[in-house]
Amino acid sequence: MAKKAQINLEKCKGCDLCIDVCPRRAIRKSGISNQKGYDYVEINFELCNGCGACYIICPDCCFTIVETAGSGR
Ligand code: SF4
Ligand code: SF4
Repeated sequence: MAKKAQINLEKCKGCDLCIDVCPRRAIRKSGISNQKGYDYVEINFELCNGCGACYIICPDCCFTIVETAGSGR
């Protein structure tokens, strides 16, 4: 089992705090606006190790950390 971050993109306000704290540099701007008009971030699941730093830092509680059933790549 591997842990991965998931994001609720509609809650994101594009503050970029999560980009700076991610040790795997797995988060980047999507270049796309959500329904509130913010350029939300997206996660590269190949790089994410589920450390939870983004979950802790995000002021808008956008992230959840989930167990994935796959190979843990
Ligand atoms: S910290 Fe939260 S609100 Fe800020 S860019 Fe990341 S996901 Fe969006
Ligand atoms: S859980 Fe860790 S590695 Fe994955 S996106 Fe968040 S800060 Fe980056």
